[in-house]
Amino acid sequence: MAKVLDSKIPAGPVPEKWKEYKAHQRLVNPKNKLKLDVIVVGTGLAGASAAASLGEMGFNVINLCIQDSPRRAHSIAAQGGINAAKCYQNDGDSVYRLFYDTVKGGDYRAREANVYRLAEVSNNIIDQCVAQGVPFAREYGGMLANRSFGGAQVSRTFYAKGQTGQQLLLGAYSSLSCQVKAGKVKLYTRYEMEDVVIVDGRARGIIAKNLVTGQLERFSANAVVIATGGYGNTYFLSTNAMGCNCTAAVQCYRKGAFFANPSYVQIHPTCIPVHGDKQSKLTLMSESLRNDGRIWVPKKIEDAKALQAGTKQGWEIPEEDRDYYLERRYPAFGNLVPRDVASRAAKERCDKGFGVNNTGLAVFLDFSESINRLGIDVIMQRYGNLFEMYEEITDVFPGDVANEINGVKYYKPMMIYPAIHYTMGGIWVDYELQTTIPGLFAIGECNFSDHGANRLGASALMQGLADGYFVLPYTIQNYLADQAVWPKVPTDRPEFEEAEKGVAAEIDRLMNIKGKRSVDSIHKELGHIMWEYVGMGRTAEGLKTGLKKMHDLEKEFDTNLFVPGSKEGLNVELDKAIHLRDFFTMGQLVAFDALSRNESCGGHFREEYQTEEGEAKRDDENYFYVGCWEYKGKGNEQQPT
Ligand SMILES: Cc1cc2nc3c(=O)[nH]c(=O)nc-3n(C[C@H](O)[C@H](O)[C@H](O)COP(=O)(O)OP(=O)(O)OC[C@H]3O[C@@H](n4cnc5c(N)ncnc54)[C@H](O)[C@@H]3O)c2cc1C
Repeated sequence: MAKVLDSKIPAGPVPEKWKEYKAHQRLVNPKNKLKLDVIVVGTGLAGASAAASLGEMGFNVINLCIQDSPRRAHSIAAQGGINAAKCYQNDGDSVYRLFYDTVKGGDYRAREANVYRLAEVSNNIIDQCVAQGVPFAREYGGMLANRSFGGAQVSRTFYAKGQTGQQLLLGAYSSLSCQVKAGKVKLYTRYEMEDVVIVDGRARGIIAKNLVTGQLERFSANAVVIATGGYGNTYFLSTNAMGCNCTAAVQCYRKGAFFANPSYVQIHPTCIPVHGDKQSKLTLMSESLRNDGRIWVPKKIEDAKALQAGTKQGWEIPEEDRDYYLERRYPAFGNLVPRDVASRAAKERCDKGFGVNNTGLAVFLDFSESINRLGIDVIMQRYGNLFEMYEEITDVFPGDVANEINGVKYYKPMMIYPAIHYTMGGIWVDYELQTTIPGLFAIGECNFSDHGANRLGASALMQGLADGYFVLPYTIQNYLADQAVWPKVPTDRPEFEEAEKGVAAEIDRLMNIKGKRSVDSIHKELGHIMWEYVGMGRTAEGLKTGLKKMHDLEKEFDTNLFVPGSKEGLNVELDKAIHLRDFFTMGQLVAFDALSRNESCGGHFREEYQTEEGEAKRDDENYFYVGCWEYKGKGNEQQPT
């Protein structure tokens, strides 16, 4: 890996060029019968919306997803909502304000031009989704309802109970299905992209594995779009779906696409705490809960100790002995501070011994005040499915009365703790969402551009759908306009042959290690290393130790991995092994980037660089750039010194 500094971050308003896209649109008008093929990898919100839009515009789209249906993509997990600058609340919102909040929330490290465009199209997304029939929550009078999310002092988040991602995905899926029926999109479910094929320096196709038969297949097209999500599962335990992986992105990186800002990893403050070593997944409790839930720990250390020992319960602690530390430290935003700030503040309290569960790694999220004020029915309307999800996992229902002190009812609080959630880093893209490989585009969570060092809540869905419905379908035409005269590359070219052979050789290598350790046991160990040394608080020394441990563990993976079964047919363990190979590359990238960034910023917190109050200390003079990493071959990674 070598680091390239990209300090030319375009800033300011949208370039004039944006207005010219309409001209290119004519090129792909179905009436012109141009045969331009585009591969879209992924059917999350970004991929499904892009494939549907490209199909509608007349392209022939090949769309791949790992799951058996696009409806099962990870985006379905999104709970809280999606931002837009509609200003339905008349609270002073505007395109500029959404742009400003997003840039500020990202600790000023997002590419401003992209964010401005994002804010501009945010309102169109809501209109588009309403037209598709997405059942957003409504006020009594029929207007779409809004709630607030972290880092904003206006209410701009549109939502569908606690299942916004699912409803948006169903909308995108119905558009996609229309195009499948119209013959413009060919959908390949249970297919995984394993490599990108480069011909004469341009992305011309992919090698994919049919996950059911185990066969490798070649796909050729005029352009390739990856919409394959983030790399949070490098940490093993995260709020991401178990199938989330970074294989497609890492493979593009190996083929020459730059990887930008990998150390910007988001740790979400409101997740159900880890409860044991056998756990394989963490569960998010949506940030929307911070609208009505108050976060606190005891003021007195003896109360905290009693909670940890199980001799006291949270609801036995009276109001005056509770420390609502976010409201105390950040009165302007209170419980709705950005995620990086809330996560660090929880860690700070727990590190000082004020944690509230048996591990000492949890804080309370308490609805007593809002239930007393609004009534349980209103709270259930807003968060019912989240309360039920919490009860299913912990056996505690946050709407149950637990105690009454001085005539005030106290309800059972949730316990929460920060966990890995989202990755702001990703494949580097330019303003047109094109990577450093011509013809290869990256959209949604797998690119790096819009969230800087920290993503604000409800803005990932906004970005995924902006990219898919409104940005990529136009920008890709600037590339394809020149490609219209080029014939599609046949799949029997040597470049396809070579790429397929490479994938097959890797599969054989993994199958033939025949060691003793399962994929999960090694992945779990990698996750421990990542969390401990490359997690919420990082130090130069810890990062070097982490890199050394990762290096040693990767050797163990290469020599002692056991993949049962055969490469023919369905073999989930083999697929996980391929993903783990790439999580190793990713983990090292995150650590190298974190080591080279001698400052704290957003989701990247270096303990050496903090203020006296424990806040992140940015160094804009030296680290304002986007750090791009270029692959230099296995074994040529930078070694820890
Ligand atoms: C629990 C949870 C709650 C969230 N809540 C919110 C919220 O309320 N608001 C918000 O804005 N954001 C939220 N987010 C974040 C948001 O859901 C994601 O960032 C967003 O959905 C990512 O969309 P995507 O299309 O980029 O990727 P994904 O939804 O991850 O989709 C990736 C797609 O790529 C496919 N894929 C991956 N690799 C390959 C491969 N090699 N070959 C073929 N296909 C591949 C997968 O099958 C999948 O279809 C939440 C995230 C989580 C985990």
